Amino acid sequence: MLFSHDTELTLRAAGVLINSDRVDGEQLGDLPALDEYLDSFGWTGRRDHDAAELESVHRLRARLGAIWETAGDEVRAVGQVNALLADTRAAPWLTRHPEMPEWHLHLASIHDPLWQRMGAEMAMALADLIRSGELRRLKVCAAPDCDAVLIDLSRNRSGKFCDTGNCGNRQHVAAYRERRSNR
Ligand SMILES: [Zn+2]
Ligand SMILES: [Zn+2]
Repeated sequence: MLFSHDTELTLRAAGVLINSDRVDGEQLGDLPALDEYLDSFGWTGRRDHDAAELESVHRLRARLGAIWETAGDEVRAVGQVNALLADTRAAPWLTRHPEMPEWHLHLASIHDPLWQRMGAEMAMALADLIRSGELRRLKVCAAPDCDAVLIDLSRNRSGKFCDTGNCGNRQHVAAYRERRSNR
């Protein structure tokens, strides 16, 4: 494992969030879809269940996508992560609970708005990545017709394709056809 369990999980959650309107249209268009996403990553705490909450998560999604796309420019990415830490008023405190018995950090109160709690945790996971000099593990899919993001957790940072659109396979097939037609 490259990073602590909670950092990896949070980065994956951020990647899935960003991709929720990049692969097959809007997948996070209503509150039930948001519930399903949150449940799949075990998010708990305050929920407002209204349109403003959904909109705020969409805004967070756009912001995170911009950070991913800036990953080649460390200084700019740091500025964006710092801004997200500030805007979400991230305030770390140690806790443990039955679902997660090891001591770990929470970054916001369970009474804070959803986007703020999500944003604070995601900004902190990104900060962890940057501190380890691993920002370049944030990637955009290399398939020409896909702008899904990925978090490359491979040992040698060799990941190129997202795992949402079967892009790796599609590219292999395309390269094979290309070689054959050039014969
Ligand atoms: Zn926890
Ligand atoms: Zn892709």
